[in-house]
Amino acid sequence: MDARICLLPGDGIGPEILAQGVAALKAAGQRFHHEFTFVEALIGGAAVDASGEPLPAETVTRCLESNAVYFGAVGGPKWDSLPRAQRPERGILGIRKALGLFANLRPAMLFPELAGACLLRADIAARGLDLIVVRELTGDVYFGEPRGRELRDGLRTGFDTMLYNEEEVRRIARVAFETARGRRGKVCSVEKSNVLETSRLWREVVEETHREYPDIELSHLYVDNTAMQLVRDPSQFDVILTGNLFGDILSDEAAVITGSLGMLPSASLGAGGPGLFEPIHGSAPDIAGEDKANPLATILSGAMLLRLGLRLPEEADCIEAAVRRTLADGFRTADIMEPGKTLVGCAAMGAAVCERIHRIRG
Ligand code: NAD
Repeated sequence: MDARICLLPGDGIGPEILAQGVAALKAAGQRFHHEFTFVEALIGGAAVDASGEPLPAETVTRCLESNAVYFGAVGGPKWDSLPRAQRPERGILGIRKALGLFANLRPAMLFPELAGACLLRADIAARGLDLIVVRELTGDVYFGEPRGRELRDGLRTGFDTMLYNEEEVRRIARVAFETARGRRGKVCSVEKSNVLETSRLWREVVEETHREYPDIELSHLYVDNTAMQLVRDPSQFDVILTGNLFGDILSDEAAVITGSLGMLPSASLGAGGPGLFEPIHGSAPDIAGEDKANPLATILSGAMLLRLGLRLPEEADCIEAAVRRTLADGFRTADIMEPGKTLVGCAAMGAAVCERIHRIRG
């Protein structure tokens, strides 16, 4: 297949890790005979330096003309004192909005080779952790109106509105059910319907939508219980479907218990246009330019790009298998280093994965 991929390296370690992600995509392209064309555009602090704004119009155009967007990270102390509209982080929020990305998919998995880094008790970790949080990204209390601050009975009062309409719930529910079809076929919808009206509507619409997916097992859990279950026995979860606020918190919780921030990829999908694929970590300014960053989260985001953005599951499987083999062969960047393993830098880790993409048995 021919595909055009827009690269947004951004700041800090962004360019280093994305270079390794691109090398892995090229290796998969070669192995499976695809023609990937890469175009690059500015975002974040790099764009501020070049043009005065974190998301130039040219960047949005290049993204919209592509089949997928591959993103590094933005931000750093150099731009921290700029006014809000010019902050590098506005670049990522802006591109998500411009591409209409309403679904955020964050897998949290525990590679057996890295089980030692897991924050859970060994017997719990031994049961495995391989789940994906499907979080709604454009609604909920973060965007609901009215919101604001005012004096009520002489007291400063702040208020936000938790709000979803049925169409917003239906489309994210479909993403979760479709995602489960490619996995273990289980969706757990998370809300707080014992207390919140928004959650009662959420549950109702999720149940209606479920009728289109009779092959998928649906369960419901309150968010407070989910937070507990994630540390008590995360192996029970396959796909967690939830709103913007609860998803923000639960996806971070699920990520941190794996113990390896540099390992976790993510995807944000819209309705038909290009999706955006990025590691969940930030620009790590403390190690930028030192060839110390772990590129595996970015490489695994590239696998998500192939699977969800370009519908190339076999190619995605190949990259994921190559990452697992690289870990099994003992290669470690500093953030996941353990005694007895081989310490490598960002570029060498990327090269080790690429070598395995070429020769791993499919
Ligand atoms: P961070 O994720 O950048 O770094 C947290 C810690 O993890 C640091 O010690 C860093 O060295 C380490 N780390 C992160 N990724 C790593 C990797 N791939 N390999 C090895 N170590 C890694 O979070 P932060 O320090 O809170 O934020 C730094 C900057 O990144 C800020 O400007 C923040 O706004 C920005 N940020 C951007 C995004 C994004 O672009 N999507 C997300 C989060 C934070």
